[in-house]
Amino acid sequence: MAEFYQPGSKPVPILSVREINKSFGSNSVLCGITLDIYPGEVLALIGGNGAGKSTLVKSIMGIYKPDSGRIFIGGEALEFSKPAVSLNKGAYLIPQEPMLFPNMTVEQNVLMGFQGKKTALRSKLNDVVKQLGWKLDLSRSARTLSIAEQQLVEILRGLLREARILFLDEPTSALTFDEVNALFAIIENLKKKNIGIVYITHRLNEVFMIATHVAIMRDGIITISGRVEEFTREMLVKGLLPGDFSERLPAEKTGGRMTEGEKPVFELRDFNGYGFADINLRIYPGEVLGLCGVVGAGRTELAMTIFGRDEAISGQVLLDGKDISGMKTNDIIKRGVNYVPEDRFLNGIFRISTLAGNLSSACLDSLSKFFLDFAAERNIAEKYVSDFRIKATGIRQEMGSLSGGNQQKVVIGRSLSTTPRLVILDEPTRGIDAGARGDIYAIIGELKARNVAVLLISSDMEEIVELSDRAMTMFQGRINREFSKEEINQDNLMRASFGVYKENKA
Ligand code: ADP
Ligand code: MG
Repeated sequence: MAEFYQPGSKPVPILSVREINKSFGSNSVLCGITLDIYPGEVLALIGGNGAGKSTLVKSIMGIYKPDSGRIFIGGEALEFSKPAVSLNKGAYLIPQEPMLFPNMTVEQNVLMGFQGKKTALRSKLNDVVKQLGWKLDLSRSARTLSIAEQQLVEILRGLLREARILFLDEPTSALTFDEVNALFAIIENLKKKNIGIVYITHRLNEVFMIATHVAIMRDGIITISGRVEEFTREMLVKGLLPGDFSERLPAEKTGGRMTEGEKPVFELRDFNGYGFADINLRIYPGEVLGLCGVVGAGRTELAMTIFGRDEAISGQVLLDGKDISGMKTNDIIKRGVNYVPEDRFLNGIFRISTLAGNLSSACLDSLSKFFLDFAAERNIAEKYVSDFRIKATGIRQEMGSLSGGNQQKVVIGRSLSTTPRLVILDEPTRGIDAGARGDIYAIIGELKARNVAVLLISSDMEEIVELSDRAMTMFQGRINREFSKEEINQDNLMRASFGVYKENKA
């Protein structure tokens, strides 16, 4: 006999989680998580990176084994660490990046892995699609599907399994605006079919658009939960902040050297592109402008467009007062703009395979011509290896064999071997250890000392607080707030990044 949760007259939750604990080694990731979801409810689960949201979902799906606690699906206790059991009881996780077979049709992809008669399955699938009123041609080849449509295929697969509770883990991070709306229409539809949904997101506006309930997770604990109507955005933002946040003062910093009447090194005027709009900003010599925002706010799109990788729609890009809008990336580099993307592989570092090659100025030119002065290269490389404490066996070491932190030091440090005017750093220390982080901060200090303008894109608010002379926040493709040095603190940045303005009383 299966163990039943809460017998009696009360409706049975589709999902009940009771006092779940889970550690990875000494890291307690889930600390006594308890929650219930009833048919037709959409629970938005929000929380910062590392809060434990994905771990919770994976524990319910049988991918991870909780250390203690109970989980019930439809009132029946779940055996831990058995993915097949979780699936059979009706839990289904829509992967963030669906993995479909591109050469197969939608139908073949959905039916993949199901036992039983194909004809019966096919008619069941057609019923599900018809019932939901979805317009998706099942004979289309999967390669022609957008990511949103691929997610739809995953949802169909879940429904065909008669899933009663669906988990969507940050499903919209790769979707366009229209695709998000399409997904939300589908979720509305599923609500009406009494499916339960756990929707993990970092976008607060989505909470108010689709969720019936909301829970905030922080450091493995659900700190706040309830019906969405009970909350304002402001309350949710507050719930996301660690307790002692607002009291903390911004750290002392050495200021940018913007003086009265000084000319900006870099300026954007009414700059519009794909993923951002109406951007106006200036960066002065030796100034670090921090650009904060949540994933998907449009910061990387902005950087890629400044760098000439994406096409702008309208507006002006000025470097030392000269209009460089519409130039090709190579010409933009020659004028003194450097962009270090979050993904180092995109930056072509592995096109030039050795450490020395990367550290010399020839490296940036070599994107257009092949000329290397090996003696000069050696001198520069040896200087930077010692200055930046790059850990390598020698200057001929292959880039690919350096640690992530050391690769990043090379990529940022090499901009010093040219005479850059503007350096754009996109998440320069993500995934890097504390020691390398300090070295990268020192390199940024060196850029400032040389009067370079630095645009620092970071989701790490502490980093923005630590390094910026001025900061802006981007929200849904627009700059929504600018902060002077005195106003830069995590509380202000966090609120503005989530689209909540805190009125600064003068
Ligand atoms: P979220 O989804 O809220 O961003 P996660 O559940 O992914 O958070 O991670 C919570 C914490 O658990 C993090 O500190 C992460 O490093 C740790 N963690 C997650 N998965 C593993 C794993 N397989 N092994 C070790 N630690 C893990
Ligand atoms: Mg996660």
